[in-house]
Amino acid sequence: MNKIIILGGGESGVGSAILAQAKGFDVFLSDNGPLQEKYKQELDQYNIPYEEKGHTEDLILAATEIIKSPGIPNYVPLVQQAIAKGIPILSEMEFAKRYTSAKMICITGSNGKTTTTSLIYYILKSAGLNVGLGGNIGRSFARQVAEESFDYYVLELSSFQLENMYSFKADIAILLNITPDHLDRYDHDMQKYVDAKMRIAQNQTEHDALIFWEEDPVVSKEIKKLTSSGRRYTFAEYKTGNAIAYSEDNKIIINTPKSTFVMEQDLLALEGTHNLYNSLASGITAKLLDITDENLRQSLSDFKGVEHRLEKVAKVRGIQFVNDSKATNVNSCWYALQSIKTKVVLILGGTDKGNDYTEIEQLVKDKARALVYLGADNSKLHKFFDSKVARTEDTASMKEAVEKAYTLAEEGDTVLLSPCCASFDLFKNYEDRGIQFKECVRKL
Ligand code: ADP
Repeated sequence: MNKIIILGGGESGVGSAILAQAKGFDVFLSDNGPLQEKYKQELDQYNIPYEEKGHTEDLILAATEIIKSPGIPNYVPLVQQAIAKGIPILSEMEFAKRYTSAKMICITGSNGKTTTTSLIYYILKSAGLNVGLGGNIGRSFARQVAEESFDYYVLELSSFQLENMYSFKADIAILLNITPDHLDRYDHDMQKYVDAKMRIAQNQTEHDALIFWEEDPVVSKEIKKLTSSGRRYTFAEYKTGNAIAYSEDNKIIINTPKSTFVMEQDLLALEGTHNLYNSLASGITAKLLDITDENLRQSLSDFKGVEHRLEKVAKVRGIQFVNDSKATNVNSCWYALQSIKTKVVLILGGTDKGNDYTEIEQLVKDKARALVYLGADNSKLHKFFDSKVARTEDTASMKEAVEKAYTLAEEGDTVLLSPCCASFDLFKNYEDRGIQFKECVRKL
């Protein structure tokens, strides 16, 4: 009997285990760390054998196929051994797609994935489609394939998932942008990361759609190398090149083969240029799926946004506090700074993923009244910014950072948490960092 080994016992792995079991495979789940109690209970309930806090190599290397969670890098020795033995390593998406004929709407990019995925899901669901939401977000896709029967899935895909997808095909693929991120997992080789992202377009035929940002220098270069033949639809800030979706005279325009959609730009729920892109990409998708203009207009204007992404927290004595904890790379901080019209006290720092801060240097010089460094090791920030900004402060807890930022800010300013870095040095994850920020702001 085919033996499916699942590596990693989080939401993705447990969902895959449930699906593999439901499809009659001999399943075993292995995690080298501890499993959460709720997942252990679920595995027990389904009678799925598992191990935690270590891998039994012999068992794993006897697999017919391995489904690997996206958190486990391909370079770990066990994965390398499996590859050397010729055992196929799949991502959850690749595996689960075998068991559904639903239409796949897949979103990737270095920034904006969760926002765009959530917005598209919201538009489709509000329009009455039978649609599921998965990938890097919410309940695992595999679990939903096992338990639900949706007609459409909106999936957020990271480069880590795409790396292990081979015959998977997106009916609608959205590639928002590509800027350096996660280079620590790609031997600091940008091309390897780019290649993983470009897999979003793999296997597409002329019946499929590939939506991307016309002006992205990396994407536009890579698109020329593509051999798949999905129809291409591009968006841009203004009407340029082949863009079919753009802004003009304070309106957004989306020209698809069947229709033209027009909406006042001020009515868009999401603010900032980066969110204009996210709204345009979502709008193209909606029109390709024949969502009515009325439904699309309604959803684009009443979408509530996603927590920790340019989230307005509160105004304290005329100072606006904004939580952008999810900005874990330099490019997303660039967009955050760019979208804010006032002077800014920027809180940044954390686990550096090979950051190059020159990208935000000019915006910081123009807009930052002060910088508050929040990390276990702020030396790289000191070195780069201290000579360029009037005031900088060192902090090592959220409470300290928020209080310092509050004293440095003046009435009318914005205090922005947009860290450019991962959070694991001082926080559990970016959600924990954002929640602590909001709590500290509310206590001011
Ligand atoms: P992801 O899921 O790709 O990490 P999110 O939607 O969670 O992206 O947004 C993360 C951060 O990236 C946001 O806080 C925002 O500052 C920035 N951002 C969002 N959309 C875009 C975009 N289209 N281009 C660049 N930056 C963006």
